[in-house]
Amino acid sequence: MIGRSVVFRTRSWAVLGVVLGLLGTASQAALAAECPGHPGALGTSRTLVVDPREHPRIGTMQYRETLPLKDHEVVLTFDDGPLPKYSNQVLQILADECIKATFFIIGQQAKANPEGVRKLVAAGHTVATHSMDHPLTFDRMPAEKFEPEINGGIQWTSAAMTDPTKLAPFFRIPGLMRAEGVENYLISRGIQVWSADFPADDWRHVSSDRVYQLAIQRLEAKGKGILLLHDIQPRTVAALPKIIRDLKAKGYRIVHVVPATADQPATPTTAVEWLLHPPTETTPIARWPAVPTFVFTETKSLPAPSLADLNAEAAHQPLLPRRTRAQMDVASTLAAPGRDLFAIPEGSVEVLLSTTLSRRAATRLAMAAETPQAAKGKAAKSRAPRTAHAAHGTLKHAAQAKGTTPRPTRIATGVKKRA
Ligand SMILES: [Zn+2]
Repeated sequence: MIGRSVVFRTRSWAVLGVVLGLLGTASQAALAAECPGHPGALGTSRTLVVDPREHPRIGTMQYRETLPLKDHEVVLTFDDGPLPKYSNQVLQILADECIKATFFIIGQQAKANPEGVRKLVAAGHTVATHSMDHPLTFDRMPAEKFEPEINGGIQWTSAAMTDPTKLAPFFRIPGLMRAEGVENYLISRGIQVWSADFPADDWRHVSSDRVYQLAIQRLEAKGKGILLLHDIQPRTVAALPKIIRDLKAKGYRIVHVVPATADQPATPTTAVEWLLHPPTETTPIARWPAVPTFVFTETKSLPAPSLADLNAEAAHQPLLPRRTRAQMDVASTLAAPGRDLFAIPEGSVEVLLSTTLSRRAATRLAMAAETPQAAKGKAAKSRAPRTAHAAHGTLKHAAQAKGTTPRPTRIATGVKKRA
């Protein structure tokens, strides 16, 4: 039985393999049929129709959202053309592979080479705009400057087209120098702001091999996304066939993006598909910080610490408040005051102050009750703040008890130095 089951399963897998193989061949054949004369072409796997108003900013290089691509799906974009010398070569490479891309046109280029714009449209690519003069100051331009830049690009690119309605309401800010005001203006006009998911640094002075490596490495790191290239660079022309070769070898598929129209509604998508890595059932859990593995003792509670545990008798007593030297000095040098010192004579200012009388009235009454000499001294003291009065009074009384002259200044200095 077991043996028969194994044989059966083996045959099932073999059949499945054949079916999958046939399906693979069929899809290849379908692509080849779409790309006559180029049997090994990468082709364009699907067309994604987007409504710019629903997702106005895209490209994870700068924004939260990007195109709703599936794993291993790539959107090719080319900026700054058309420049016949290189743009025509890029067009030919893409035509040989039946790849549809998106081109962000500079108004000045369209003005100088309107035929280049028409070629792009005729080849079925999406044509969008990239400003009039490509200034790299969109992040600090006032509206009166960026609006003519945006509109000039749109005007000259659409002017180059036989059918201006073919112009896609997509815009890429030159140098990706984004600014809130620029984005809001574009969005208010129903234009989608396109950043990218990864560049290949083909505008820098690097080799074509480096461009190819960066394109593939960065794509592999994200698994899908919008690739930013420039069809005016010789290194891009040289790198593109190698990029396409690797895309084929690694199983990537090209997606062509077009804007929604009255005849062609947007491809149905869910909000999370516009995130590069939509959360799955496992990712939210996987992203929580790891819980540390505490080792708990078997006892349910720990015993309360004793004073010995605090090391209270040792030289270091960090937990106990320390007596200052000043306190110790006062205690050792001053004699204990006699009990009679605390007896308040009747009619004195302290007693009178405890009534509702004002300090001045109380002092006057106290002075009247005492001898003129004593009253004079007490009145002077009563003008001092209460705390100072109390402190000086104590010192004076103590000094009188010892028969010496009080020297509050020296003690105060001593306290200050040792604090
Ligand atoms: Zn550019």
